[in-house]
Amino acid sequence: LRSQFMGADRSRRKFIGTAGAAALVSCLPGAGPLNASARTRQKGGPLKPFGFVIHGGAGTIERAKMTPEREAAYRSKLTEALAAGFEVLRKGGAGLDAVVAAIVLLEDSPLFNAGKGAVFTADGTNELDSSIMDGRTLKAGAAAGLKRVKNPIRLARLVMEQSPHVMMVGDGAETFGSQKGVELVDPKYFYTEERWQQLQRRKEEEQKATPPKQSDLRTPGGLPDDKKFGTVGAVCLDREGNLSAGTSTGGMTNKRFGRVGDSPIIGAGTYANNETCAVSCTGDGEYFIRSVVAHDISAAMKYGGKSLREAADLVLAGVGRLGGGGGLVAIDGRGNFAMPFNTSGMYRGWVGPDGKPHVQIYKD
Ligand code: ASP
Repeated sequence: LRSQFMGADRSRRKFIGTAGAAALVSCLPGAGPLNASARTRQKGGPLKPFGFVIHGGAGTIERAKMTPEREAAYRSKLTEALAAGFEVLRKGGAGLDAVVAAIVLLEDSPLFNAGKGAVFTADGTNELDSSIMDGRTLKAGAAAGLKRVKNPIRLARLVMEQSPHVMMVGDGAETFGSQKGVELVDPKYFYTEERWQQLQRRKEEEQKATPPKQSDLRTPGGLPDDKKFGTVGAVCLDREGNLSAGTSTGGMTNKRFGRVGDSPIIGAGTYANNETCAVSCTGDGEYFIRSVVAHDISAAMKYGGKSLREAADLVLAGVGRLGGGGGLVAIDGRGNFAMPFNTSGMYRGWVGPDGKPHVQIYKD
């Protein structure tokens, strides 16, 4: 497996703009950071790049299997999420607020495997995980195994901002959340017929299949990877130059025994550091944890001198070599962004200071 990019992603894009006047400048491959003339081209002080990139999960997403209605629904919800993040940033709001605003919209949509529409565990329940990180302070918050929190990303933020801890799980996390005013719902709220049927199919397929080998964790029961994951995430460079990242998921269909993936693991599924980048991942969580993907990208930039693009490629290629499928979105302090994935598709989009949303789904 190799990381793959959409054609448009191959160039190094940067978000460059000022209050009011805005432009998404696409630089040629190999172009360096914002140069002095670019920074002083317009009146009113230095240009403030800002950018916002989201994903709605990577997996087997093929054009041939998608109906036009369904594709339109995905595009419209991703566009709405980009607009929500942009609106916060345009007004000079904090990147963390943009990340939460977009992720809440995606959690509330049954299209994605996060919040409403989360996949089912083997026991027929929904167990949600989330995390968030502030690149300025390196503060982080995460929650796992949630059964009643309507918007897990909000709880992750409360853990970060209103507790001395970084990660809380299960009932304890929910008790903390309810004390802090997060909305709790009946677990039935998360039910969608489509995800339920997905679980039934998965169980049937697993019964027919040969037992999994340890070396084949990605395909329980030796099955082909036929899942559409649908985790959601966002990364942001705000006008203050701060980076932030967040991720929210229902995990993997048919997961068992309190399984937790990479999404709520700081450094694996989510990481942000103003010195380097902000990253949100999606894919086979076990492989993303073992590869410590999000932090490894930051480390390749910090210690290895790699560009964001090089670092993201390098680390995702390593995930692929282990046998893991998935992708990620990442942005650096200059507004360069990357959206690599090694599956057939990844729901993804970006918006810069011009406010024009870009949404892509497939590899080609
Ligand atoms: N990474 C998530 C998990 O392993 C699933 C996904 O992104 O599709 O829980």
